Amino acid sequence: MDTAVRTGPIAVAAPAAHRTRQARVVWGERVVTVGGDAPVRVQSMTNTDTQDAIATAIQVKELALAGSELVRITVNTPEAAAQVPYIREQLDRMGVDVPLVGDFHYNGHRLLTEFPACAEALSKYRINPGNVGKGAKRDTQFGQMVEAALRWNRPVRIGVNWGSLDQELLAGLMDENAGRPEPWEARQVMYEALIQSAIGSAERAVEIGMDPAQVILSCKVSGVQDLIAVYRELARRCDYPLHLGLTEAGMGTKGTVASTAAMAILLQEGIGDTIRVSLTPQPGEARTQEVVIATEILQALGLRVFVPSVTACPGCGRTTSTVFQELAKQIDDHLRAQMPVWRSRYPGVEKLKVAVMGCIVNGPGESKHADIGISLPGTGEAPAAPVFIDGEKAMTLRGEHIAAEFHAIVERYIQERFGATN
Ligand code: SF4
Repeated sequence: MDTAVRTGPIAVAAPAAHRTRQARVVWGERVVTVGGDAPVRVQSMTNTDTQDAIATAIQVKELALAGSELVRITVNTPEAAAQVPYIREQLDRMGVDVPLVGDFHYNGHRLLTEFPACAEALSKYRINPGNVGKGAKRDTQFGQMVEAALRWNRPVRIGVNWGSLDQELLAGLMDENAGRPEPWEARQVMYEALIQSAIGSAERAVEIGMDPAQVILSCKVSGVQDLIAVYRELARRCDYPLHLGLTEAGMGTKGTVASTAAMAILLQEGIGDTIRVSLTPQPGEARTQEVVIATEILQALGLRVFVPSVTACPGCGRTTSTVFQELAKQIDDHLRAQMPVWRSRYPGVEKLKVAVMGCIVNGPGESKHADIGISLPGTGEAPAAPVFIDGEKAMTLRGEHIAAEFHAIVERYIQERFGATN
């Protein structure tokens, strides 16, 4: 082993730059740029029945307030298409200008043609080339959807999914593979089919008249290593903006970890211009959880800052009560819940760093690195909790009401540092 002492600073790790064109998704005054030098955007999708316009508008609002910058809704029937303008109207009335994306399969060509108010109310159309029609109808129906996008000046996402991959294309590539002296693995043929379906469809859209910058691509699969392989190759072969997501990621911890593992690697390589975490909600879980996770992924990688961060230690044998866990959770929940209001009232508040630590081992040190931090007493320590503000010890809290007092200190700090008068 080479034990020579290295000299010079250790390179700072940072995500690679994006290299794609830039699309614009617009509603009214709101312009969400995707790709190029734009930040990686967060997307989500409703799971309400689009025919229920009120329920859908309410969920879109919740997703937008949680941080989703584009919200996709299912447009699967004439009845759903008829409700889309009404959903848009409800959102506009509520002051929610998040662009809506229409998710079309099988009948999108008809819905976009027969319901012009629906086509107009949507800011982007998702086209799945595996589901636009078979045989001779495929090109015609794909063309009709692209023509609707041109008519209304809307970008499209050509969203390929391995669960609905173009079977004719796949069969052709399988035949070609069988003739190779050394055939590829079946999964490599599938990767090729996904990528050819996406890029081939994008090229057809451009031939029809789409601006290449207004064509966003995605190739979703449900395996982490598959997603990494497909997107690395997709990014190598084209410069269309890319939407990233692990499809059918699953529930809870499994879905969260799998999505994070796959997307973090690609985002670090500069691959991905928008992301969605396709989490199956657990019973009783809010749909907004997928947005929370997506924002956390981008924030953890240092790509975006959405909410103040709360650093909390994991606790150990030095903490026998749950006081610090409860305090960390209360502060985290409070900061997140207030963000929709604070974003405009306290510009820059999302950069706030709070530390809630369990004892004196790392408590004071970690608290000093935060804007505001508290080191709670561990087992056997004096019942006192020093509070650090901007790196300096500001006070020591004692007694029964440490949590409430710290809460008030954080609120005051936010008002003083980020309030309009400063
Ligand atoms: S700060 Fe204290 S309580 Fe928290 S993990 Fe470290 S030693 Fe344990």
